[in-house]
Amino acid sequence: MLAVVNQKGGVGKTTTAVNLSAGLASCGERTLLIDADPQANATSGFGLSTNDYEHDLFSLFQSVIDLNEPIEVEQVILPSVRPNLDLIPASVDLAGTDLLLASRIARETILRSLLRPVRERYRWIMIDTPPSLGLLTVNALTASEGLIVPLQCEYYALEGLTQLMNTIDLVRQTLNPSLEVWKVVLTMYDGRTRLAEQVESEVRKFFGTKVAQTVIPRNVRIGESPSFGQPVLEYDPRSKGAVAYLQLVEEVRGYGASRVR
Ligand code: ADP
Ligand code: MG
Repeated sequence: MLAVVNQKGGVGKTTTAVNLSAGLASCGERTLLIDADPQANATSGFGLSTNDYEHDLFSLFQSVIDLNEPIEVEQVILPSVRPNLDLIPASVDLAGTDLLLASRIARETILRSLLRPVRERYRWIMIDTPPSLGLLTVNALTASEGLIVPLQCEYYALEGLTQLMNTIDLVRQTLNPSLEVWKVVLTMYDGRTRLAEQVESEVRKFFGTKVAQTVIPRNVRIGESPSFGQPVLEYDPRSKGAVAYLQLVEEVRGYGASRVR
């Protein structure tokens, strides 16, 4: 299970979660994408809106609290949004998660427990997280073995990372010893600027081999694809953005192959 995390907004988390999960599924590997962001951009990224589903991730959290309305995880999974790809959608209700679970015992491990019945059905489970280090992100960190950390190639790319790394360390020490950063991914790379090069070398100095070889370029087609409800891999498979994401898919598969799930 992988979570795409960075508490900064607009760094390419959702784009990465959508295209990685679409790409892994297109390799014929059973994949589940979980949208854990109240903005529901990963859900809409596949062309789905709240009219298309009755339950979402929040309904599942709610059913833990309100035992009168039990919902099974199977009921919130939208099967085959693409071949080999299932989705647990989000809704704006998810914004109430911290409040809902505030006084709940073991609230950091709820997602992990809820997913247990379906874990073995998938080769890959990927979680898109919101731009905060709140309970949704902590639940994603607790449920996952691997993390993908997108960094936007701009000034302050490394800002806030100490806080993220501290949170990851804390979760590793207390709730999830097997948690590991798999890949730091440089996104929105503009090769025409010195700045992008500088950021890249700074990030590679800081994270070493954790940084993915693949760099995601700033690409118009990536920016357009969500409004068509498609991953860029589908929208324009020959665009630079799609080619880069496919390469990242191979890198992640290669890294995952040597690891037990
Ligand atoms: P996050 O989930 O971290 O908030 P998103 O993946 O939603 O970030 O990306 C923020 C915005 O930037 C979106 O409008 C997205 O379409 C756009 N975007 C993401 N990656 C790229 C890229 N490589 N090139 C151009 N636009 C991008
Ligand atoms: Mg997002």
